[in-house]
Amino acid sequence: MTSETTSPEQTLLNDLRAARPLLWTNDGRSDAARVETVVDGRAISLADSNAAQDRFLRFAPLLAKLFPELAETGGRIESGLHRVPAMQRALGLGPEQGALWVKADHSLPVAGSIKARGGIHEVLEFAETLALENGLVTRQSDYTVLAQAPARELFARYEVAVGSTGNLGLSIGVMAAALGFRATVHMSADAKEWKKTRLRARGVNVVEHAGDYAEAVAAGRRQAEQDAYCYFVDDERSLSLMLGYSAAALHLRDQFEAEGIVVDAAHPLFVYLPCGVGGAPAGIAFGLRQIYGPHVYAFFAEPTQSPCFFVEMLAPGKSVYDYGLDNRTEADGLAVPRASDLAAAAMAPILAGGYTVADETLFLDLHRLRVSEGMHIEPSAAAGFSGPRMLTRSAAGQAWLAETGLTAALPQATHLVWTTGGLFVPPEAYAEFAERGAAIAVRGDDDISPAG
Ligand SMILES: *Cc1c(COP(=O)(O)O)cnc(C)c1O
Repeated sequence: MTSETTSPEQTLLNDLRAARPLLWTNDGRSDAARVETVVDGRAISLADSNAAQDRFLRFAPLLAKLFPELAETGGRIESGLHRVPAMQRALGLGPEQGALWVKADHSLPVAGSIKARGGIHEVLEFAETLALENGLVTRQSDYTVLAQAPARELFARYEVAVGSTGNLGLSIGVMAAALGFRATVHMSADAKEWKKTRLRARGVNVVEHAGDYAEAVAAGRRQAEQDAYCYFVDDERSLSLMLGYSAAALHLRDQFEAEGIVVDAAHPLFVYLPCGVGGAPAGIAFGLRQIYGPHVYAFFAEPTQSPCFFVEMLAPGKSVYDYGLDNRTEADGLAVPRASDLAAAAMAPILAGGYTVADETLFLDLHRLRVSEGMHIEPSAAAGFSGPRMLTRSAAGQAWLAETGLTAALPQATHLVWTTGGLFVPPEAYAEFAERGAAIAVRGDDDISPAG
């Protein structure tokens, strides 16, 4: 046995390279009441998240007009917060480990994923900037005028482009096309066919690339640089995206209040966020940190073959390929080889840690959620459910809880799993996912916690 001489760091590296599920914690996390967050040289605060939320509100009447499915909410794109006791039991977690909740972004209208927050925000910000510059509105105007000819003609002169593994393209493409922009989505090879079909049906130009997500982004960026009328949404570098995501924290605060959920030293909040390039989970973690201070502990969930955020925290600038991984996963929303360095820098003092999940576990938890709670999610969105087990059952998790002084507070803890996508998965594709999960459940080899 060599394990006696293996340090925890070496064990983590071995697990990373072998694509074994692992839990890592962030030594750089600050428990100060406030942390300064700088993105691209700019300090950001809750005021910026509020500004993003206000922008969504200004556009709500227009969105209610453009999307019939938003009539009911007056144009607001939001998701429910649900207590999931049956899923908690299915995961084998007792009440002494806290209470399991789901933030149901898998049901977000228009985009069908968490990308409705960041992606749509950036398109709205671009449209608003153009409309303001051209005197079509002031910030006090009724934005439904943007559905009329002068605005449509203005927007039609511009193209909005993005590189995507699928979901970001869906949100940007659908919203850009609805506002009257020309829209181009550069898709990576792992993007699902139905996502391309859905976009083409809305008049979006889908460009397919043979390479991975990073290559699709690079291709889109190059094309946009040559065209002054092309606005490129840069998933690896965008502050607007991050702030759009961060506004979710404000709505969640209201939902927590309505449910009587308290977050303080005696009632810690653990949030489990599926992570691709890192913008979405970083934006949300940032927003929650501004509201709840050090009492929120954000963990990022990544596939064992695509843990780019962990790699970026470990060795800035490296990709998952540098560790012998192949970036192949059924979690297409998370199939990213290199993380956003912007998101990683913002998370350095905020993030509690992260963990990796095998694809089999994604299908198993997708199946469990269907059976226990009747919720339908895509594989990427299942990554959060491993978090509470990782934290409370693995040796690494228990050691961290003890070190951080959280063990005694566990029974009063809230575990919030962010389910990030699924609404538009075609029923046949979903049935396949669920079947795979059911087969794994029958096999019963469900102990997928990290070794040790
Ligand atoms: C994009 C996406 C994420 C993660 O967002 P990033 O900004 O890429 O980290 C998580 N889940 C789903 C379903 C997604 O589409």
